[in-house]
Amino acid sequence: MHKCLIFLLFMMIFCGVSKAQSAEPTDPKATEDWSRRPTIVQSLKSSSDIPSDAIILLNQDQVNWIKKDGTPTDWTFEKGVLTVKPGSGDIISKASFEDCHLHLEWRSPLIVKGEGQGRGNSGIFLQSRYEIQILDNYNNETYYNGQAGAVYKQHPPLANACAKTGDWNTYDIIYKAPVFDLNGYKVSAGYVTVIHNGIVIQNNTEIVGTTEYIGFPKQVLHGGAPFILQDHGDLVSFRNIWVRRL
Ligand code: MG
Repeated sequence: MHKCLIFLLFMMIFCGVSKAQSAEPTDPKATEDWSRRPTIVQSLKSSSDIPSDAIILLNQDQVNWIKKDGTPTDWTFEKGVLTVKPGSGDIISKASFEDCHLHLEWRSPLIVKGEGQGRGNSGIFLQSRYEIQILDNYNNETYYNGQAGAVYKQHPPLANACAKTGDWNTYDIIYKAPVFDLNGYKVSAGYVTVIHNGIVIQNNTEIVGTTEYIGFPKQVLHGGAPFILQDHGDLVSFRNIWVRRL
């Protein structure tokens, strides 16, 4: 009898606590989180401004890009504009990155030369492996998944937002890096959103694997890695490149 009373008392207390925990709050303050606050970042007043916490990769004074062997790039730098020197090879950012917001501006050569993938072709590789295509796609046909803004050979862009040949384009790339476990198994895919000249052309797109010109995407274990800008043999120019770690 004594044990039954203790058990009943315990159940009453337990049920009371459970009911209290699941009860819908009636005070709006109950669901307000005041424990922390976002970092203050100075917002942009014009497209040429840079967020206050951005890391500069290219501006009027700085070229934070090098060759893959660590030596200075041979690409042409003049008045804040960095232009591919065909045949000199890809370049990489000096620093490595993972999740980030990358802003870059690119321009295809004013003089139209070549067609398809041979016209104003370059690319920005996220973590050195995943290419977002850069291509003069203005009045220039090519395969669907090789267009400007494609996750190259994996996902075509949602729209063709290319500026006229020779005009500046803007990419804002929001990137979530893939996550691997200790055995190298990918437990979470990479995702990318791309805004091209203000138009969303990749919307949280899942990256299948590494960019391959021939063959299918591969699964490769990696950590933080530099960006790569591609030398595809065309005189593509860049300016105003910055990145914010997320
Ligand atoms: Mg390319």
